[in-house]
Amino acid sequence: DIKKIVVVGSTNMDMVVKTSHIPVPGETVLGGSFFMNPGGKGANQAVTVARLGGDVHFISKVGNDVFGKQSSQLFEEEGINTFYVLSDDELPSGVALITVDEAGENSIVVASGANGNLYPDDLKDALSIIAGAGFLLMQLEIPMDTVRFVADYAASKGVSVILNPAPANTLSPGLLNCIDIITPNKKEAEMLSGIKVTNIESAKKAAKAIYGMGVKNVVVTMGPLGAVICQEGKILVIPAQKVEAVDTTAAGDVFNGALAVALSEGKTFPEAVQFASMAAAISVTRMGAQSSIPYRNEFIAVSSKIEGSINE
Ligand code: ATP
Repeated sequence: DIKKIVVVGSTNMDMVVKTSHIPVPGETVLGGSFFMNPGGKGANQAVTVARLGGDVHFISKVGNDVFGKQSSQLFEEEGINTFYVLSDDELPSGVALITVDEAGENSIVVASGANGNLYPDDLKDALSIIAGAGFLLMQLEIPMDTVRFVADYAASKGVSVILNPAPANTLSPGLLNCIDIITPNKKEAEMLSGIKVTNIESAKKAAKAIYGMGVKNVVVTMGPLGAVICQEGKILVIPAQKVEAVDTTAAGDVFNGALAVALSEGKTFPEAVQFASMAAAISVTRMGAQSSIPYRNEFIAVSSKIEGSINE
């Protein structure tokens, strides 16, 4: 019995350039290859859910332009329900400018465009879909008022709320209390907890602190170090898979989408984090955002190969 997942979030067009190093202010770097790839945290997470076999509705806003049309079409091809991918007449589609260095680290500027116009009023017709879902998955690339409104509504209907608090921001106590699982990375965990997160030990402290703020379950993602869970107060560490990182763009998105899929299939929280780590590990071995997201069939084959290399 697979539960429905509703993703409410952003859609962007990613413009990616490979570079020897990420430029400092005032510096111009002659970059390498360029490519465009549909992205945005909401879209990436919705595509991840679809590719890993989840039942997904995506609620988002794009511009009435070529990027918006392209994105909607791609979502449909992925098997996402796009009835609530709305078109905005005022602002263009969101765009992200991404540079990726040789180590696979990235730096990103986002022009939100239509994502900034996704307001609670736009969601009136979609509320019955949210109420009928098992899980609501959100990020912070849409207006905070919308995030608060949807989280509150979902929680009142008994829907589990997963919040990926990215990009880093502070969250109101009211929002924190609606959340079943929060998934900050290192920087976001620091922002939320006020604790400097440099290693697994400090991540444990931050996870406990965020739990203490009223969130039932916390998972702090620590890139290649893995993930630290605080499950109703109890700490667990889930190590990352050892892989060669090519491009970490969307690692967090794949992690979150996969987490939702695993939970929708009835896996426990720690099992779901393990599944999410596997999916994220595969994505960092490939370039791009949506282009790097694994499919379920591929996931099984590749993840067993990854496990094998760890056992050696
Ligand atoms: P990004 O912003 O690059 O999308 P993030 O900062 O949101 O990612 P991370 O903590 O860097 O999130 O990564 C999320 C998860 O992806 C990690 O918990 C881990 O499971 C996996 N992951 C990330 N980087 C690596 C890596 N180099 N090797 C293996 N797994 C990784």
